[in-house]
Amino acid sequence: MVYNDATLKRFWSKVDKSGGTEACWPWLSGNDGKYGTFWVDGRYQKAHRISFQIANARRISDGLMACHSCDNPICVNPSHVWEGNNADNMIDASHKGRLAHIKLSPSQIAYMKLLIAHGKAQTGELAQLYGVSKSTARRIKSGHIWSAITQAEYRPVSPDGFPALAKGGQ
Ligand SMILES: [Zn+2]
Repeated sequence: MVYNDATLKRFWSKVDKSGGTEACWPWLSGNDGKYGTFWVDGRYQKAHRISFQIANARRISDGLMACHSCDNPICVNPSHVWEGNNADNMIDASHKGRLAHIKLSPSQIAYMKLLIAHGKAQTGELAQLYGVSKSTARRIKSGHIWSAITQAEYRPVSPDGFPALAKGGQ
C-alpha cells in the first residue's frame, strides 16, 4: 500500500462520491486553480494523481502523468484517471477535440476490453461500434489509455449477459 490508513481516510473525506461509481467524483478541498491538491509526503500534490496511486496500489512511474478520461480536472474518480506520457495526453486531447461528441463511459471501455479479451471483436469493429477512431480502439486494447479500467468493471445488462455483437463475433 502506498499510503497509510490515516492518509486514506483524510483523502476520501474530501471527495464527493455521491454520483455513484461511474460518475465524476469532485474534489471538495483545495485546488491549484485547476486540479485538486492534497497535502501528503510533505508537499501539496495533485489529488487525482494520489487517487490513481491509491486505487492501483503503486506510484505513478517517473516521467508519466495522471490524465483524465473525463476531462474534468477536479474529478478524482480513479476509474477516470489513466497513466500516460505527455504525448499520450496530447494525442488524447486532440482526439477529444475532434470527437467531442463521443463520450465513452467506464462500463463501455470495460466492455470493449471484455470483447477483445474473449476474441469477440477486432479493434476495427469496436471503433465502428463506439464511434471512435481505430487508433483510439488500438490504444484501449494495448492499455495505453484507460488502463485503470479493467474488464471486471463491465456491468452487464443481464446477470449472465454477454450481448452478442450486431455483426461479427463467433
Ligand atoms: Zn471524472
